Amino acid sequence: MHIVVLAGGIGGARFLVGVREVARRLAARGEPAEVTAVVNVGDDVTLHGLRICPDLDTVVYTLGGAADPERGWGRRDETWVVKEELVAYGAEPTWFGLGDRDLATHLVRTRMLDAGYPLSAVTEALCARWQPGVRVLPATDDRVETHVVTETEALHFQEWWVRHRGALPAKRFVFVGAEAAKPAPGVPDALATADAVLLAPSNPVVSIAPILAVPGLKEALTKPVVGVSPIINGAPVRGMADKCLATLGVECTAAGVGGLYGARSAGGILDAWLVDTADAGTTVDGVRVVDRPLWMSDVDAAAAIATAALTAAGLDV
Ligand code: GDP
Ligand code: CA
Repeated sequence: MHIVVLAGGIGGARFLVGVREVARRLAARGEPAEVTAVVNVGDDVTLHGLRICPDLDTVVYTLGGAADPERGWGRRDETWVVKEELVAYGAEPTWFGLGDRDLATHLVRTRMLDAGYPLSAVTEALCARWQPGVRVLPATDDRVETHVVTETEALHFQEWWVRHRGALPAKRFVFVGAEAAKPAPGVPDALATADAVLLAPSNPVVSIAPILAVPGLKEALTKPVVGVSPIINGAPVRGMADKCLATLGVECTAAGVGGLYGARSAGGILDAWLVDTADAGTTVDGVRVVDRPLWMSDVDAAAAIATAALTAAGLDV
């Protein structure tokens, strides 16, 4: 069995832990199962001369057991000496949290990119250390950068999100470079050989949409697609998906996000949509809706969600 997951950062990483667990259980029963994560690069940014890929790092650190469990991003046992030193120099930007351990990842990545390796190859090299247990692919090796257009300016998503905490009213999100981007090597093949494609409960607007903005990717979703709602009982579990959805004029509910993805039969991508039991009764035109507890409180809870998603995709897990 081959399972492909489209993923952003924290929600994507936690869900992937569950999907990996399901794959391990299948393998233990003698049914080989492989997992490919196709990860958002829209948040990637160059700061202090270093290329930083927040969602890829969150996924790889989390699956590699190296993520800080409280923050959800960055390394556990992190120290911040370099950050303090940069602040002492007044070296902008001072608002982005670059931990000392994390910096080593960005140094290795930047050096490899400068030497001409594509991001997909760099990610593979970083995974050699972390052994995430799933294949981790960037959605594209090309630049697809999420920018936020406000009343007065356009700024990088990281600046809007991290520096301003999403407080500047956003008029729209733009995925700069998307039209000219190509799926990263391995992505088309993964989608073609998948038995199911799962949408992690990631931010639909700034994590999943930039992946789907890569030309050809949506068209390559020929296998059953099942989404997991990041919205429970009218609120994001964490993060600012509510602000992002409001910008699009989409209601911050499981039904709103399901409608945003849309039914395959109506030109959207969903065959089935998983909502929390608190949202039982949710309907999305043309989509089969299944309700299950969707809090990813631990590995077992995340694995149960993954199992429900695969079952909804028609697979016997
Ligand atoms: P980011 O890139 O780090 O912001 O992470 P993602 O885009 O992958 O995920 C953010 C989304 O994950 C938010 O909209 C949250 O609501 C969602 N999320 C986080 N934890 C959970 C959880 O336990 N259950 C569900 N259903 N969604 C979650
Ligand atoms: Ca992100």
